[in-house]
Amino acid sequence: MVETTTLRKCIGSARFGIEPHEAPVEDFPRQPSQKDGLGRMCAVHWRSYTAGLARDAKARKAAAEPEAEAIEQAPVEPAPVNQVAVKPAPADEPKPARSRTRRAHAEPAADAAPVAE
Ligand SMILES: [Zn+2]
Repeated sequence: MVETTTLRKCIGSARFGIEPHEAPVEDFPRQPSQKDGLGRMCAVHWRSYTAGLARDAKARKAAAEPEAEAIEQAPVEPAPVNQVAVKPAPADEPKPARSRTRRAHAEPAADAAPVAE
């Protein structure tokens, strides 16, 4: 009884730099969908192949979201300094008075606490 080691071709993957080679059939993962029930790559290369596919999928997903990149790359025009000087902020908008009023409304809350006793 002589056990012969049957060699099988691992097809490798040019895409991920995996060279095709011969390997013992025991090194191939079982793959029922294949007509001979074995994978077309040895287990080691099959792992690197699927890892490579996962990496590519991640990269594609990142590339599929170009909106954030577009915003970053959009040229930001600085406000022309001359125009700002010619058009001063309208003086009749009473912004400081409004903020003072808001603060006045917030303050009485501190004094209202002792009423609970
Ligand atoms: Zn291989």
